[in-house]
Amino acid sequence: MGTGLISYVFPIYNESGNIALLHQTMSEVVKPLAYDVEFVFVNDGSRDDSLELLIELTRSDPRCRVIDLSRNFGHQLAVTAGVDAARGDAIIIMDSDMQDPPEVSLELIAKWEEGYDVAYAQRRSRQDTAFKKLTADLFYRTLNALSEIEIPRNTGDFRLISRRAADQLAQYREHDRFLRGMISHAGYKQIAVPFDRHARHAGETGYPLRKMLRFAADGIMGFSSKPLQLITRVGYVFSVLALLGILYVLFVRIFFPEVAVAGWAFTVIVILLVGGLQLVMMGIIGSYVGRIYTEVKNRPLYGVQETYGFSAGPGVAGVPTAVEVTASPGTDESEGAATTA
Ligand code: UDP
Ligand code: MG
Repeated sequence: MGTGLISYVFPIYNESGNIALLHQTMSEVVKPLAYDVEFVFVNDGSRDDSLELLIELTRSDPRCRVIDLSRNFGHQLAVTAGVDAARGDAIIIMDSDMQDPPEVSLELIAKWEEGYDVAYAQRRSRQDTAFKKLTADLFYRTLNALSEIEIPRNTGDFRLISRRAADQLAQYREHDRFLRGMISHAGYKQIAVPFDRHARHAGETGYPLRKMLRFAADGIMGFSSKPLQLITRVGYVFSVLALLGILYVLFVRIFFPEVAVAGWAFTVIVILLVGGLQLVMMGIIGSYVGRIYTEVKNRPLYGVQETYGFSAGPGVAGVPTAVEVTASPGTDESEGAATTA
């Protein structure tokens, strides 16, 4: 494969008890690699002495780089900052609490060498509380039932992405981020690598229930407009029920006038009619809101896996030039065809 650079991105939120072990283990794990390595640590507003420990690392190990965010932005944004800053030909996203076994990253790299753009680690088992397992399972079931794209189950953000997948991901600037969904959405050749997830080494989870719910909402609402379509469906169901109700009211009013209170038929008909109509109208508004949401997210319209036959001529506007194509890993060096530099 020749040489290249592998970037590891570690989001750090109150991980002082894990940083030394993480760095030590990672240093061991990457030893056999034929690539250069960089460790990108993103300090996500830690309140312990994580930052000091990280700065200490940069002094003793030139492979370490630290991005200190201005406050706690949350895991997904911390990872985004790290991926944005990473310079590698492949980027590995990993938790910093030793839950993602460092040696598995070598298997991810092996898949990248085979030509995959995304290698995501998929849990065979996990050491977490029964509550976490149950909620996670429920979440992925709901997500996949609702979502328009396939989001692999039992995966976290532990994964490798190639340079071109990272460049594509960089075009997703939505604020409520659900990275694993975005990476699925981006496409490219993806593959799962099974692994056993460990328990957290030290410290406590930075994902309390509140953040978990928020995260689940980002995943579902970012990748599905089904909740909005639900309004229309419910609207239709209610309209049909309303129609039946109206027929019943008219029936009673005409054939059993002595049972009906004065004004009853009119009142009930209005209520049923307006109720059904309102839901249908809200559904129509909902479908426009859904479209606005899609536009506002401003995701890239498409991703290019590879181009062929572009290297001879000048770059065409909007289409990646030969320079970008030959810069992607796994592609052979071009014979100096494009010399735009
Ligand atoms: N993390 C972060 N910002 C946060 C919460 C967590 O950067 O606001 C980091 C944390 O340091 C860890 C990773 O994200 O490296 C996963 O978090 P955690 O282990 O707390 O989540 P869990 O494994 O319990 O889902
Ligand atoms: Mg964890």
